[in-house]
Amino acid sequence: MGEFDLIARYFKRPVRQAVLGVGDDCALLQPRPGTQMAISSDMLVSGRHFFADVDPRTLGHKSLAVNLSDLAACGARPLAFTLALSLPEVNEPWLAAFAEGLLALAETHGCELVGGDTTAGPLNICITVFGEVPVVNGRSQALLRSGAQPGDDIYVSGNLGDARLALNTLLGQIDLPPELLASCRQRLETPTPRVALGQALRGVATAAIDVSDGLLGDLGHILENSGVGACIEADTAIKLVAAYPYNKGATGQFDLKLSTEQWRSLALAGGDDYELLFTAPASQRAAVAQAGQASQTPVTRIGQIRAEPGLLLVDSQGQTLPNHYASFDHFA
Ligand code: ADP
Ligand code: MG
Repeated sequence: MGEFDLIARYFKRPVRQAVLGVGDDCALLQPRPGTQMAISSDMLVSGRHFFADVDPRTLGHKSLAVNLSDLAACGARPLAFTLALSLPEVNEPWLAAFAEGLLALAETHGCELVGGDTTAGPLNICITVFGEVPVVNGRSQALLRSGAQPGDDIYVSGNLGDARLALNTLLGQIDLPPELLASCRQRLETPTPRVALGQALRGVATAAIDVSDGLLGDLGHILENSGVGACIEADTAIKLVAAYPYNKGATGQFDLKLSTEQWRSLALAGGDDYELLFTAPASQRAAVAQAGQASQTPVTRIGQIRAEPGLLLVDSQGQTLPNHYASFDHFA
């Protein structure tokens, strides 16, 4: 099978919103009046972002999910994406499963595959997503990293740390009972981009980012871009690890034997969570709860923005904790 047959078979699909999809030199998108485009790229490299033998269906899902998560963080509505794919060989069952996982998530979010590039080489997947955000009275409604204000509450959606727990297990560093590994593995391999929540937070949140490299590291980007500091309740964050009830056999059957320090590290620096971390004034607490409900996404308040720069970490008694939770950095 040649390059063009491969594209036609696995990646060429009719488009509905785009003006023109796969098949010409460019795709064509028509931004709607009163909107601007939000654009983001993410690359997934074999052996670095995923195991080479990972289920191709979940890989297809995750490749798009991490990109949709960036749109979610900006409060953008997904429109379309391109796929640049480098493949070591033409493996049809692999391609069929990859395309199925990819296009199923695309369909869920009404995000169309409109083009890309296909070459031979080490397995590498690069997706660029295009979304739209409204412009109201000349002002973009996009959520940015730069809008956090002193006194704002800090929230995170969903769960933290379970993806990392799965990764540590797959790397042979820890042992999980099979049912727990299955649920953590889902978090690692098929994350849920918080697309509806991001859009519901437009006009409510002052700043937002998606958590890909670890909670504290990604919070650091909001703090830096907004010129503020923060206080985070570490033990509130710990409770967001879905596996936390396995602490000290609290589920009754199994004790994961992790120290408080290890649970904190999972929650605060786990990575691969693809949750939304955002800030909003205290006057917006009801609106934040409403956004969570409307998007059927759990949202938890975990701290507060401060005028003083720096990140203060406190335990449940309000005692200061040392912050040595490094986030992921490819070149560190
Ligand atoms: P060009 O040589 O002009 O770059 P290509 O031959 O690479 O065009 O691609 C032909 C068409 O197939 C283009 O419309 C391109 O966007 C699309 N395409 C190529 N690879 C992919 C892919 N992996 N997924 C979706 N569309 C693709
Ligand atoms: Mg090309």
